Amino acid sequence: MAEEALVSEERTVDTQWGVICSQLKTEFGATAFDSWLKPLTVGDFNNGVMNICAPTAFMKNWVVTHYADRINKIWEQQNPSVKKINFIVQNGLSDRRSVDTSLLKKISSTPTPQNIYGCSINSSSFGLVAGASLANDTTRNTTNANSPLNPNYTFENFVVGKTNEFAYAAARKVAESKNVSFNPLFLYSSVGLGKTHLMHSIIWHIKKNDPNRNVIYLTAEQFVYKFVKALRYKDTAAFKEQFRSVDVLMVDDFQFMGNKGTTQEEFFHTFSSLVEEGKQVIISADKSPTDLEGIEERLKSRLVGGLVVDIMPTDFDLRMSILQKKAELMGIELPAKVAEFLAQKITANVRELEGSLKRIAAHSQLLSGKEITLDMTQDVLKDMLRSIDRKTTIDEIQKKVAEHFNISVKELQSSRRARTVARPRQVAMYLAKQLTSRSLPEIGRKFDRDHTTVMHAVRKVEELIIEDQTLAENIEILRRTLEN
Ligand code: ADP
Ligand code: MG
Repeated sequence: MAEEALVSEERTVDTQWGVICSQLKTEFGATAFDSWLKPLTVGDFNNGVMNICAPTAFMKNWVVTHYADRINKIWEQQNPSVKKINFIVQNGLSDRRSVDTSLLKKISSTPTPQNIYGCSINSSSFGLVAGASLANDTTRNTTNANSPLNPNYTFENFVVGKTNEFAYAAARKVAESKNVSFNPLFLYSSVGLGKTHLMHSIIWHIKKNDPNRNVIYLTAEQFVYKFVKALRYKDTAAFKEQFRSVDVLMVDDFQFMGNKGTTQEEFFHTFSSLVEEGKQVIISADKSPTDLEGIEERLKSRLVGGLVVDIMPTDFDLRMSILQKKAELMGIELPAKVAEFLAQKITANVRELEGSLKRIAAHSQLLSGKEITLDMTQDVLKDMLRSIDRKTTIDEIQKKVAEHFNISVKELQSSRRARTVARPRQVAMYLAKQLTSRSLPEIGRKFDRDHTTVMHAVRKVEELIIEDQTLAENIEILRRTLEN
């Protein structure tokens, strides 16, 4: 009984939040709403205190300064038993409830240029786990049924440049061909460079041009979850049937396939049987098949058997084109000076670039269409820019490590194997892995080595730190200097 009451209270709160959200959206506009308010979720409600969760501290602070008063007011009108609202940061996948989107849908059933850029943190942090079966909806996952394909992730909206043209061409080819040309297509890159965008584009294309083709799209995490559930309910036959009867199987974020074991074995068999039957398999991951950790050798060797394509980090020109395209889609006027500034500063990935643009757009909209200028941009993005400036680069690590061990950067990058040079080199590689988000091959390139050398160096230093107190201290000093 008590449980029922709780559930019904939760429902009431969710519904109220839905109503509040629609009101906020009307008041603040779709862009601001999508950027700042849509990602919020309702947390616990105890003794009149309502928790509202934001996915990052930055977002929380922004919401507190810009929207908290209004949210408080509206909620008070909705439900007088809410005495206080507490904004907290919560980015895990714990038991969160998101906006009752059915209410929002009523307000805007068709995406408009202003609202299509909604950054639903919920769906992206789940990696769009819902299985998207186009022929029928039976694979839709009930835990995240509100997470359909992103309508903006189409080929038309994908900006092509030198660093991604091959991946784009391969994705298009797979989407357009009835016959399988390469199997699997394996796309990889570091985060935020367009893998999921390309995967969704493939599905949209098939959905439009060949709606009878049965496509399943899910993340590796979701595959594991479904398989484990099937095992628990002794329902593996239906599981196998479901996956082996598709025309196209797409698995996003394959690095989360988990360690070797029955799930991987199941995937291996599903994969092999689909490939044998001439069905298309498309996989994305943050590493190349050979660099994936915890994946069985035989599976790795099947994965490299098709076409393996990487998306490289963006270059300046591509960043400029992306900014132009996104600004156009958001319906904002972006002066060239501001675009250049952003393209120069925000280089890590497209997601961050897009995030910065959304923030500027939200700000301008909040101030009733205030003109976007360089000053305003620098002001709105100051936290982000400060953290970018603070980010350690591999060049800086090489310089500091060389100085510390009294050798030159050239020696550090050379092929000399003398201990006096080799050890600092390993330390620099280790620190690069620890302090930057660069991948092993990227780090390797900076030292003119391949990724296995970097991997070896990282392991070696990890071992040495335990045995060698002096080295451990040296590394600690270096780390502190680099992090400041
Ligand atoms: P990944 O899956 O590689 O982590 P996503 O596909 O989620 O990256 O891309 C992150 C964001 O950047 C998305 O909003 C996506 O639309 C955008 N994006 C990435 N590359 C491009 C591109 N070439 N053109 C347009 N948008 C892009
Ligand atoms: Mg992705």
